[in-house]
Amino acid sequence: MTTVAAQNLYESDPQYREKAAMWRILSLLPLYAPLAQDRIWRWFAANIPMDLGTGGSFNSDIDLIARLNYFPLARNVWFFRAWEVKVALLGKDGNAHSLKAGKLSRLMNQLSIYREFGAPDVSLLDVFVCEPGFLQAHRFPTPKVAETLAAKFPALRREGFGYYALAFQLTGGSAADPGLSSLIFGPGPAQTVWNPLAARGGQPTEGYAKLMARLGEFFEHSPDRPSKNFHQIVFCRVCRQLQLIRMRDEHLCPLCRDDLIRQF
Ligand SMILES: [Zn+2]
Repeated sequence: MTTVAAQNLYESDPQYREKAAMWRILSLLPLYAPLAQDRIWRWFAANIPMDLGTGGSFNSDIDLIARLNYFPLARNVWFFRAWEVKVALLGKDGNAHSLKAGKLSRLMNQLSIYREFGAPDVSLLDVFVCEPGFLQAHRFPTPKVAETLAAKFPALRREGFGYYALAFQLTGGSAADPGLSSLIFGPGPAQTVWNPLAARGGQPTEGYAKLMARLGEFFEHSPDRPSKNFHQIVFCRVCRQLQLIRMRDEHLCPLCRDDLIRQF
């Protein structure tokens, strides 16, 4: 069992929080499966350095990547979706913390780096971690949050970037299983991911194409195991190796035992 406790998510420093939030999302099928938007996935990968594909000209990380299939339309055609993940905290008083409303130009620059690297299908994923009690007192999004989100859309749309939001409320619980309740967007079938803007599609080019080939090769050559596609590809910064782990149960590097959540 992973040791990412609810209080760690809510009270930790921002870098740790982003990693811990990623771990929570990729631990829970109802949270990450909707990111595939009804597509079949082969694998998800988290926090992958771009320079694995290029040998150094790009030094950012890609927060989240999925290899998806057009099944049943075209079962042999795969495509890749990449997300830049931002984590905001919503207090039970209704106020957002670490919601960087004024940093749109910085965000657009970060997304542009993905494009320059050769990734066509790039989206922003806003993750909202709500303090226990938030949902009982507020609707999501609160007017202020809605305003912040809407302000990003014209620039994202102009550049062909997609937008996803995912929110969950921590429910306290024990350190062994913090528990959470996900927020449901819209009427009808339970939808835990809101996706008002679709990203421009296309096939990977340049460094991104090389990186996707490398991740694919790594995944396919990893020993078979039950539910292989419910494991995730991660990168250990200590031993500089890709690893295939099940984030639901694991947060230590299988090789060097370093805590992957605490590596920045
Ligand atoms: Zn390691």
